[in-house]
Order: sequence, then C-alpha cells, then structure tokens
Amino acid sequence: MYNLIAVSMGEVALKGKNRGYFEKKLTDRIKRNVKEFENVSIYKDQGKIFIEPSNSEDFDRIIEKVRKIFGIVLLSPCIKVEKNVESIEKKIIELFSYLVKNKGIKTFKVQTNRTDKEFEIKSLDFNRRLGGVILSNFNDIKVDVHNPDVFIYVDIKTDCYIYSERIKTVGGLPIGTNGKGLLLLSGGIDSPVAGYMMAKRGVEIEALYFHTYPFSSERANEKVKKLRDLLEDYCGKIRLRSINMLEIHKAIKANCLEKNTTILARRFMMRIAERISKENGIDILITGESLGQVASQTIESMCVIENAVDIPIIKPLVGMDKTEIVEISKEIGTFETSILPYEDCCQIFAPKHPATKPKLDNILEDENNLDIQNLIDTVIQTLEIN
Ligand code: ATP
Ligand code: MG
Repeated sequence: MYNLIAVSMGEVALKGKNRGYFEKKLTDRIKRNVKEFENVSIYKDQGKIFIEPSNSEDFDRIIEKVRKIFGIVLLSPCIKVEKNVESIEKKIIELFSYLVKNKGIKTFKVQTNRTDKEFEIKSLDFNRRLGGVILSNFNDIKVDVHNPDVFIYVDIKTDCYIYSERIKTVGGLPIGTNGKGLLLLSGGIDSPVAGYMMAKRGVEIEALYFHTYPFSSERANEKVKKLRDLLEDYCGKIRLRSINMLEIHKAIKANCLEKNTTILARRFMMRIAERISKENGIDILITGESLGQVASQTIESMCVIENAVDIPIIKPLVGMDKTEIVEISKEIGTFETSILPYEDCCQIFAPKHPATKPKLDNILEDENNLDIQNLIDTVIQTLEIN
C-alpha cells in the first residue's frame, strides 16, 4: 500500500535558527542507518523528511532501523500522489479500502495540511470534499471529528502525501547536537542505559572500559563490546577504549585500607577518563550511578569520587529505581547481555566491608602512599581502541 515514509521531527523543528543544522544531522543519521539497503532516496519537501525505498520488501526493516534514531518523534508510512484533485481522490479511496479491510474501522476524519498555498482548494473545503468522497464509496462509515477510529492525513507540499498510521519512535534530539561524552561502560545493567539516556539528548558517545585481565576474563571484554554494538543502533558509531587497571588495583591492595579500595579505584578511573577526554575534545563523563544503590553510590561516596577530577560527571540515572533502569534496558535490548555472569574488575577487588561514608581526608591519606601520576602513565600504556 505505502511507498514512502514521512519523518516527523518534533523538538528539532522547534529549534528556530538551528533548524537547518538539526535537519542536516538527522538526515545524515538516516542515511547511515539505511545504508545497507539499496537505492533508498532521502529528501526534504517543505519541512518534512521523506524516505523512499526502491524495494518495497525493505519497507518494514527500514522502519525498524529508523525508529531508533533520536530526534524523530513519529514515522508515517505514506503514499505519494500527483498533486491534482482527481488523483488524490482516487488514492484516498484505495487507502480507505485498505484500512477498512485491515483495521475494521467505523469512523474517520480527514485532515488536510496545505503547506503549498497555491493549491486551489483550501484545507477545510478539501476535508469536506474528501470526506464526501469516502462516504459515497463506503457503507456503514461515519465522520467523527472528535474521536475518530482513523485520521486520514493529506499533506499538500511540492508533492501530495496521504497517510493514516503514525508509528511512535524514541524522540529526543539528534546525536551530535549536544557535545561529546565519555561513557564509563562496565558490563552491568546501568551504564549502557546511562549512555542511551545522554545520547537521547543529543550527546555523541565514546566509551571507556576498565578491566583487570587476566583476573577478569576475555569474555567480560566481549560482553562490553557486545553492549557497545547494541548501543550503536541508537548512538551511531561508538569508539570503545579499554584499559587494564591491574597495576592500580595491586598498588591499592598493597598500600591502602581495604575498606577504601572501591573509592580509590573509582577516583583513578575518573582521573584516567578525564585525561582521555581532555586529549580527545570530550566535554563530560557519563556514569551509571543511582543514588544509594550500593556502597560506592551514597552521597558521601559520590562526592569523594567526584573530587578527584574537574570535568563534569553526569549521572542520568541518579534518581531512578533499579526496576525503572531494568525496564529501559529491556526496552533498548541491552538487558539480556548485561546479565551474562562475566565479571568486570571491580567485583574481584571489591572489599568485604566497603566504606559507605568515606571521608575525603582518609582517602587522601591513603593516596599519599601511591604514586598516582606514575600509576596512571603505566596503565594508560595498555590502552586499546576498538
Ligand atoms: P553498572 O550496572 O553500570 O555496572 P553498577 O550498578 O555495577 O553499574 P558500580 O559498579 O558502582 O555500579 O559502577 C558505577 C558506574 O561506574 C558504572 O555505572 C559505570 O559507569 C562506572 N564503572 C564501574 N565499573 C566500571 C568498569 N569496569 N569500566 C568502566 N566503567 C565502570
Ligand atoms: Mg557494575
């Protein structure tokens, strides 16, 4: 029935002077997401983006790919018709028969949007006229202007587009319209969701993973790569950096109080992440903490961890319950991978009784026993980029 997909941009369209820039970002993302399909044409017609597959078999798969793009609020499968009354009336009847057959509808409303003011019939008059055409061609059908079973939309632009269905998508802002963030990506449930949430608001994502090979397994690395791959459907290409923290963990174990281990290790992670960010033009760090979830996520712990760096650490999940986070991770498809049982570094070196209310002074005292700069220089040598 349908031969192209109309893309509605939501918030993007509201961005005034930036509109052109947002549209360009969005069009680039659409091109990238559909590049596996042959001869898909993507074009703009008076404020809307249209995707026209050359092969109708690709239609549903293209929708699946495009519905994950941030900045799009609705997708409408639609029909392009020549801009003359006769052709439009003919197609409306075809579309309506299809809807009656497939959706069992009883009531409808026609809504014309005449962006091209040269078109000879005004919107309200055209609604009435097309409504009349439908009523005279179908039995047991009524107009309902308040709560119809279906809307029949008629968009009159350079060409004319008619459609009825609207597919809800992820919303948000196009990637790359709000700076760059370095996501501290562990193999857990939370950090992939944190990355998703920031990407949804337009942040371009790079990722950083700390392991302790051979104390953490090769499979743990593979799991993190898999999570990165899953996030790429939404975020576009994500560069994943991995660093082996083993030397740091050994030094902490040998020189510091056991209860402070996690906080000390986290402060190192933040310092390393900050350094990588500065060297690569990244604006913020992103982590998956949720307030009070574990010992290292109390207010006191978070304050002491943050104190190690100047770069902002954004924690988009901070006010969410675990159940809410799990729900999103299921929705975006990372949950099943996140719960695979391969350990990342922190569980192996985790203290039995971690400090829940660490004092900065005590932590700094412990750090006096470490050659911080030298340790960072050492582990940064293990950097791998995937
Ligand atoms: P997650 O489910 O994301 O693993 P978590 O509930 O296990 O989080 P923590 O272990 O306290 O919580 O980690 C808090 C945050 O610190 C993580 O969400 C992540 O952003 C970062 N982090 C923890 N461990 C690592 C690691 N090995 N590599 C990279 N980032 C990490
Ligand atoms: Mg974890």
